[in-house]
Amino acid sequence: MDEFSLIRRYFSTQDVKRGDVVLGIGDDAALLRVPPGQELAVTTDSLVSGVHFPEGLDAESVGHRSLAANLSDLAAMGATPAWVLLALTLPAADERWLAGFSRGFFALAKRHQTVLVGGNIARGPLNVTLIAQGFVPEGQALTRAGAQVGDLVYVTGHPGEAAAGLKLLQAGKADPKNPCVRRFTHPEPRIAAGQSLRGIASACIDVSDGLLADLGHLLEARGFGAKLGLDKLPLSKALLELQGREDAQRLALTGGDDYELCFTVHVDKTKAAEARLKEAGCPATCIGAVEGKPLIECVDGAGRVHTFDQPGHRHF
Ligand code: ADP
Ligand code: MG
Repeated sequence: MDEFSLIRRYFSTQDVKRGDVVLGIGDDAALLRVPPGQELAVTTDSLVSGVHFPEGLDAESVGHRSLAANLSDLAAMGATPAWVLLALTLPAADERWLAGFSRGFFALAKRHQTVLVGGNIARGPLNVTLIAQGFVPEGQALTRAGAQVGDLVYVTGHPGEAAAGLKLLQAGKADPKNPCVRRFTHPEPRIAAGQSLRGIASACIDVSDGLLADLGHLLEARGFGAKLGLDKLPLSKALLELQGREDAQRLALTGGDDYELCFTVHVDKTKAAEARLKEAGCPATCIGAVEGKPLIECVDGAGRVHTFDQPGHRHF
């Protein structure tokens, strides 16, 4: 089957229709209309087989994860997803794989009213690159830059689950229904949470590389650090069933792929933040506070400081 037939069969039929798509898939470029009063948030992320996911991972999961990773970046900006472009290289025109991929991709796209507006398909090592675009009201985007000393640090959901799930997948022992495995194969971008934090969070980042690493990026923007309470980490039951408490803490702090949001809030706004997140149906936990010295300290119940190696994933 040639590439045009593949595009038609697997990528051109979508349930979602949007009035702001003037011209979608099929021409040399898409034509899109940004609504008045909105800024365009644009992001790209690549998923490389064997680097971002184990070779042989179910195609449906690859489709879901590739979109989830990109939507998560929009969530971290407080943006509402709208459009996505997909550049795909794959070793062969494997129709079973493409059917699975597009099923995972479009199921998530539908839930977030996101339209695929174009892309590219070529032969090569399995690599999925997306460009996702969304809207945020002018001047209201969440950025990494606004944290202040004394702000409280929060994280959504239960970080560490995806890293524990990945370990099971790598060991070939994964039950696809295990909540940790599911967190790796089907992470949920925190779109509603990001939107609800506009005007409330002082800074926000999504946790793709690991909580310490990503919080570090957010604090670096200001030359600040933080003190985190190990006892405050929201370790899930599912994670603790797989890992002892210490390993669970380590995975929560250094494991990647959870696509949760980590954000800071001025003390006067914590009540509002918690109320908004509750309304958005998103669990969130205060895990510490921003400090002036440029170092993240993790403190246990007895006041001892613990250090954690390898904060986050490094490609180079
Ligand atoms: P061109 O050669 O002009 O770049 P292509 O032949 O690559 O165009 O693609 C034809 C049309 O199909 C374009 O509108 C392009 O955006 C779209 N397209 C190509 N690959 C994909 C894909 N994987 N997903 C969605 N749309 C795609
Ligand atoms: Mg062209």
